[in-house]
Amino acid sequence: MQLTDAYDPQNIFARILRDEMPSIRVYEDEMTLAFMDIMPQTPGHVLVIPRAASTNFLTISPEDAAAVMSTAHKLAPAVQHAMQAPGFMVAQLNGSAAGQTVPHYHMHIIPRHEGLEMLGHGTQMADMDELAEIARRIRAALT
Ligand code: AMP
Repeated sequence: MQLTDAYDPQNIFARILRDEMPSIRVYEDEMTLAFMDIMPQTPGHVLVIPRAASTNFLTISPEDAAAVMSTAHKLAPAVQHAMQAPGFMVAQLNGSAAGQTVPHYHMHIIPRHEGLEMLGHGTQMADMDELAEIARRIRAALT
């Protein structure tokens, strides 16, 4: 995936936005959607995406980037509270050289605990019941 590639409307996150693919949603508004990463690097790993069709940091509009940041800013304390995480990472990858695998702009929120290593990027499928229970806790922490 090159940074200059045209937007692929069949990418998995575009299909999640159109409800053609299932996702475990934790938050949504007019401009953004947040859902559980199905291959979490630590428990509680959440993704925030714009509804707008944008591939990466170079092609997203500043308004959509700001909306994603605003949603991440709202969600991070809820994720932290739900997971009792003393720290968390916010990450956003651009191009396959940087490790981006899905060509729709997204921000990762990854809870971190001292001494608890992260799994590799997109390596291990989560247990769906466990993911749904974590999502329930995050949604509860948001209210
Ligand atoms: P990146 O490698 O930065 O493009 O991140 C893509 C992320 O999307 C990885 O962490 C994957 O585990 C995650 N992912 C891939 N497919 C899905 C899906 N269907 N639902 C939720 N997360 C997904």
